[in-house]
Amino acid sequence: MVVKVRTIPLRILKDEALLRNISPQCPDYSVIENDYYRRKAGYWGETQIDHYLRLLPKDGYYILNDLRIPFAGRYFQIDCLILTARYCLVIESKNIKGILFFDHVFDQLIRTNGDLQEAFEDPITQAKNILLQLKAILKELVPNLPFDFIVSIASSKTVLKSDSQPMKQVCHAYSLVQKILEMDKFYSREALNNFEIEEVCKLLLKLHSPDQPNIMKIYGLTDRDILKGIYCPKCAEKMALHNTKWICRKCDYHSKDAHVQKIKDYFLIYRPFITNKQLRFFLDIPSRRSAYRMLTSCQLRLTGNGKGRIYYAPPSFSPNEIAIAEEEQDEI
Ligand SMILES: [Zn+2]
Repeated sequence: MVVKVRTIPLRILKDEALLRNISPQCPDYSVIENDYYRRKAGYWGETQIDHYLRLLPKDGYYILNDLRIPFAGRYFQIDCLILTARYCLVIESKNIKGILFFDHVFDQLIRTNGDLQEAFEDPITQAKNILLQLKAILKELVPNLPFDFIVSIASSKTVLKSDSQPMKQVCHAYSLVQKILEMDKFYSREALNNFEIEEVCKLLLKLHSPDQPNIMKIYGLTDRDILKGIYCPKCAEKMALHNTKWICRKCDYHSKDAHVQKIKDYFLIYRPFITNKQLRFFLDIPSRRSAYRMLTSCQLRLTGNGKGRIYYAPPSFSPNEIAIAEEEQDEI
């Protein structure tokens, strides 16, 4: 049973919104683009966990995806947590291509890709650190619950190598369910009743604090870096608003709703609310009436009247509207 579903991380949506709204000539464009592709690859790796966990029996597995929990003044993230009556399992996802060598002497992960060799933080140590924090949080509520972890390597094309002991806790995503079924045999004693399982789920959901990154600050961008107006998706010319239509005078492309994405981008780039004046500035249009019509057609929640009216980003402001989850992404 999936208690908390995975959605596209806000940071990916914000990167994507920025890439739509700054010039490719902007010095930070490639920095943002690299971050975007790296995060998208990581997210795709996590969706591979979801894909294979569908093979688990329907009952007895409580799955919470993508948790961000405060601990000792910072946050730790769990890609996937599976709670059963017998144990709690944390799955750490990695989507790294090439040959991965797990070096137990220095606790590092060495990736060889062609002629290039580079070190990554050891995901086994990362997972162990997550368990330390998670155990500390749940110690009082469920003192007898055993904890374990698996590192899931998303792509079946990644070659896994190790220097010594068998890598029981590292596997490709396609082997996850087999590993979990083995763990089920190992942890055979019941540690939690249904009420306790529910309490743990409730506590984790309560502690979960989604990240709300200020994307302009992160990249050191100012309002001047953001393109105002709507640009033609076919020829990149600035489009003009004619009555209720956006028209490209260069290639004749036209759209009735190009502003809808732009309003969403405003919410992602700046803040989760907008005024008529702010929209006119962002779309580079003079007409208060046109901006009013556009905001009204988006059916946003609003407060205030006249010039003081504020329109809010919908709660369902949906990551899933941007369909990147299903298409396979390249690894890092
Ligand atoms: Zn055009």
